[in-house]
Amino acid sequence: YGPAPESRTEAMAWITQNAPFGHWINGKFTDPADGFATKNPATGTQLAQVTQGTAADIDAAVKAARKAQPKWARLPGHKRAAYLYALARLVQKHSRLLAVTETLDNGKPIREARDIDIPLVARHFYYHAGLAQLLTSEQPEMEPLGVCGAVIPWNFPLLMLAWKVAPALAAGNTVVLKPAEYTPLTALLFAQISREAGLPPGVLNVVTGDGATGAALVDHADVNKIAFTGSTEVGRKIRAATAGTGKALTLELGGKSPYIVFDDADLDSAVEGLVDAIWFNGGQVCCAGSRLLVQEGVAERFHAKLRARMDGLRIGDPMDKCIDVGAVVDPVQLAQITAMVDASAGEKYQIPCPEGCFYPPTLITGLGAADPLMQEEIFGPVLVSMTFRTPAEAVELANNTRYGLAASIWTETLNLALDMAPKVKAGVIWINGSNMFDAAAGFGGVRESGFGREGGWEGLLAYLRPKGTARALRPVAA
Ligand code: NAD
Repeated sequence: YGPAPESRTEAMAWITQNAPFGHWINGKFTDPADGFATKNPATGTQLAQVTQGTAADIDAAVKAARKAQPKWARLPGHKRAAYLYALARLVQKHSRLLAVTETLDNGKPIREARDIDIPLVARHFYYHAGLAQLLTSEQPEMEPLGVCGAVIPWNFPLLMLAWKVAPALAAGNTVVLKPAEYTPLTALLFAQISREAGLPPGVLNVVTGDGATGAALVDHADVNKIAFTGSTEVGRKIRAATAGTGKALTLELGGKSPYIVFDDADLDSAVEGLVDAIWFNGGQVCCAGSRLLVQEGVAERFHAKLRARMDGLRIGDPMDKCIDVGAVVDPVQLAQITAMVDASAGEKYQIPCPEGCFYPPTLITGLGAADPLMQEEIFGPVLVSMTFRTPAEAVELANNTRYGLAASIWTETLNLALDMAPKVKAGVIWINGSNMFDAAAGFGGVRESGFGREGGWEGLLAYLRPKGTARALRPVAA
């Protein structure tokens, strides 16, 4: 164990060779222009200069995508599948470089980037390659939408790219992707890898920049669909901006997912599940189990077990393979978490954590159901906890936010869990588990967590539209 210096050197060499970065448009990097620095949040040091995308850059990328789209869509499904299989294999081939670059740019533990993010990226391309093979170019009843704009967040930079790019390309669309400003590097590396896969120029374009760049993509008149993952606030703006334009839209937004522990649950497993639910990626997860609801009879015992487990968490250098919780993505985000927790009157249990852009794993008890920390997404390693008495009360508390992304239910009585599942308002319910993702299962929210699904058939259908073509029957000439 310990840091992996050789892989850090490899990633830094790739960055240094290519920085400062331009955009990836029509199969090549543009000349770098004015922009911003992307930093390693664990050390605060600059990794690379990246270009701030303008409306003109977005226009150039959309034009390249438009030009490439008809030919890409006319390919038989199995030929598009061949490209997606190649992308999946190349993600595996370059998995170490991708994982280390992701950890350097985002601050997530290398163990997670290596064992979860990157394997799931490959799995997503393999799965959608399979789906692409099932689509026919002869008399299709479904047709691609055209040019798809993808705007993604910083918490799973490459995985969110995969969630959008894989189904879009499988269905015969071309893509303009705008990665988050904190974490643009793996999208640029992936773009470069797409050339190794032989992906035709213009099929995938990456324009870096901030919210203004994202807004220029959303507003571009020649984009047929926007797929957005990010905050509910920005999602609301995008919905307003696309209303009445005919653009298709899917929104994957925020959450405040309940983690419900009944008194007959296997408490040790539930504690382990909770470590994954709230401290995976430092709680910077849309479906994080950030609201613990624990039945009164076991609350004290469960909290004691949880505190003991928290004491064993290791926080620090994300490149260290022993680390459980890495850095917060940016000082701005850290300030936001700190302000929210400091303003709370709840009782806090925190474990020591290093100086810098780190926040300690935190458990807060003694809050009422209407408390802002019970209602608002913190997007950090902070768990809030309340007790309940009956299953009915658990349902009421679980549904007592504006969100509805995921929920975990822990009990040894399967009938109780199955009775709860339809009553809890969430896009996905995990029973005696958490964070179970599968490229073949549609993921997404209800209420203010958004709409549309990513993954599975329903995810692919979000990149296709039905088209009926009928031919009038005429008598055959004698
Ligand atoms: P954010 O909404 O601030 O930014 C997301 C992306 O949108 C970034 O690329 C940003 O540059 C861009 N953007 C900002 N303003 C824009 C505008 N006006 N028009 C177009 N694009 C704009 O979110 P974030 O802070 O990067 O990510 C955290 C949020 O994402 C959390 O709320 C989290 O719950 C959510 N999230 C949801 C899911 C899901 O699947 N539901 C997954 C991951 C993250």
